[in-house]
Amino acid sequence: MSEAFILDGKALASALHAQVHDAVETVKRQNHVTPGLAVVLVGEDPASHVYVRTKAERCREAGMASFIHRLPASVREQDLLTLVHGLNLNYDVHGILVQLPLPDHIAEHLVLEAIAPDKDVDGFHVLNAGRLLNGVPGALAPCTPVGCLLLIRSFARDLSGMRAVVVGRSNIVGKPMALLLLQQDCTVTVAHSRSRDLAEECRRADILVAAAGRPKMVQGDWIKPGAIVVDVGINRITGDDGKVRLVGDVDFAAARDVAGAITPVPGGVGPMTVACLLRNTLIATCRQHNLELPGF
Ligand code: NAD
Repeated sequence: MSEAFILDGKALASALHAQVHDAVETVKRQNHVTPGLAVVLVGEDPASHVYVRTKAERCREAGMASFIHRLPASVREQDLLTLVHGLNLNYDVHGILVQLPLPDHIAEHLVLEAIAPDKDVDGFHVLNAGRLLNGVPGALAPCTPVGCLLLIRSFARDLSGMRAVVVGRSNIVGKPMALLLLQQDCTVTVAHSRSRDLAEECRRADILVAAAGRPKMVQGDWIKPGAIVVDVGINRITGDDGKVRLVGDVDFAAARDVAGAITPVPGGVGPMTVACLLRNTLIATCRQHNLELPGF
């Protein structure tokens, strides 16, 4: 069998980025509104710092305003909530993102639920999660699964009737991914750490989304020939040469000989997540100013 088509997240994200940039320019010119994203970062986690920097850079490249609030890991929960309430009332801020994870002494759900739902560009607020569950059109949905869906649909437009298996049931990836695939009329299975015979579940999938955070867990012989494979996992492993590198949850080398299409790590889902964050910020801005929503 021939090698799988590579779902190039970098290229697709760059195209989406260009569309957002053009739409931002139009909104600025016609409506005198500059979409603004506020990112709140608590603590010193190095990976979170890199993510936040990348998000802010992409934001500015798209012509949006970016506001970063860095707080010490020792910040009081009440002070973080006060900052979020202030951002909710700030007219220059259309999207608010609190970078996770938060320190243990802060109740994550309280902070996420303090964000105004219309500014919740991560789509983690219970109201937006509920809207997604109910299939309310245009709900602000979490960026990573939306990015996965765009990657899948760049290869197969009509997913109706396909059997989809999502490995992982987190609130930020697995569950919303399953709901988005259900909206596309897939027959969806959510597998997780307690699932029996995970390999057999995966082998049934026309669409397989791996989001477990387990390096190279999905083997080549877990994949149905011709399946679309989306690898969400970001795992840092140390190679024999002592160098740290990123691998996904799928054994890419083995899987590409079997799959019909597959995302690489890095360069697959990661760039799409950031591009979808900008898209959500644009959507949130348009909603807040009663502007026509972008058609992409
Ligand atoms: P999480 O730890 O919150 O959830 C992991 C899920 O995987 C859990 O539901 C668990 O039941 C399941 N799981 C764990 N071990 C398993 C096993 N052996 N077999 C089957 N299921 C298993 O993680 P998350 O936040 O959903 O992230 C998942 C992965 O995706 C991580 O590697 C994370 O770094 C990555 N991620 C990537 C992006 C991106 O932009 N590319 C965004 C978010 C998360």
